[in-house]
Amino acid sequence: MSPGEEKTPPTMDICSATFKRRQITNADRTDDVQKDDVQKDDVQKDDESTAKVVYVPRIKWPDLGAQIFIHVGFLYGLYLVLTQAKLLTTLWVFVTIYTSGFGITAGVHRLWSHKAYKAKWPLRLLLVFLFTITGQKDVYTWALDHRVHHKCSETDADPHDVRRGFFYAHVGWLFMTPHPDVVAKRKAIDMSDLEADSIVMWQKRLYIPLFALLTIGLPVAVPCYFWSESLWISFWVNFNFRFCINLNIAFCVNSVAHMWGQKPYDKDISPVENIAVSIASLGEGYHNYHHVFPWDYKTGELGNYPFNITTGFIDAFARIGWAYDRKYVSPEMIRRRAHRSGDGSHIWGYGDIDISKDDLTELDMMNNHEL
Ligand SMILES: [Zn+2]
Ligand SMILES: [Zn+2]
Repeated sequence: MSPGEEKTPPTMDICSATFKRRQITNADRTDDVQKDDVQKDDVQKDDESTAKVVYVPRIKWPDLGAQIFIHVGFLYGLYLVLTQAKLLTTLWVFVTIYTSGFGITAGVHRLWSHKAYKAKWPLRLLLVFLFTITGQKDVYTWALDHRVHHKCSETDADPHDVRRGFFYAHVGWLFMTPHPDVVAKRKAIDMSDLEADSIVMWQKRLYIPLFALLTIGLPVAVPCYFWSESLWISFWVNFNFRFCINLNIAFCVNSVAHMWGQKPYDKDISPVENIAVSIASLGEGYHNYHHVFPWDYKTGELGNYPFNITTGFIDAFARIGWAYDRKYVSPEMIRRRAHRSGDGSHIWGYGDIDISKDDLTELDMMNNHEL
């Protein structure tokens, strides 16, 4: 490779783990050409351009201010829930959270980020409506960051890189300047499918008024109109308190589901299977599976509805034809992958070589009525 070629920004088409390897390779090559003054100068220039990539994160104060407002407001909302809010107002919080949540799980995540199934326009419109109620940016921006997260998980190009700790992956990444590799990778991801989706681009263009109308206006207005809740209480409870809970459930997929749980499908990556996250997030906690098979519309091996209700939601719309072309993974494909790279926690049944010796001995004794 010529020195000229090395000046091409290496982060445009690869993640930073590879970027680091390339830096080492360049350094090795520098040793080989030390006697050549011309080439040495070029390599020094490359080293200088590489040095510019050093990442010094800065706080984005308006975004930090927004997070502080949301979380402090949550405490005041909680106080109102416990002391003054009507029961229906509190119930409306959780109705809103768990209906709008499908806009994240079935919408921006499984449909638009991963193309795990296809949806006709009435369903896409419904999902955009629900997703906007959650207030988690526009579909395009969310899906872009999520595609980068999957392509570059646990590298400098991962927007919420869990190697930087729980707090950063959970919320810190939202008010810190991103690593240059994240910025470069965002430009390299193909988003042509979303750019061709008129509903997605319409929501992106009108996001601010839609946020005012659907994230704040609608959830706050319903209790005031239907059961005469005060506007003050409804704002803090049905906007702030609700918004904060909804955000933190989604945040847990990036933090908790990358830290604590089992890794039946690939033990060498950080995502885990976490049932608590799954229950809270309508079935999005089977994260080890999801990172291994991101095209599966169930985002988990188990399509059981109680713990993966989003799968039930998509299947229901498939029955009326609004959802179709659902992608999934064969049991044999799962078994092969689990045996190749899993942590041994994936057991297909009696006879599996990954059943622990103690369990197997006890199991055989039970079957032989020796216990
Ligand atoms: Zn995903
Ligand atoms: Zn993840």
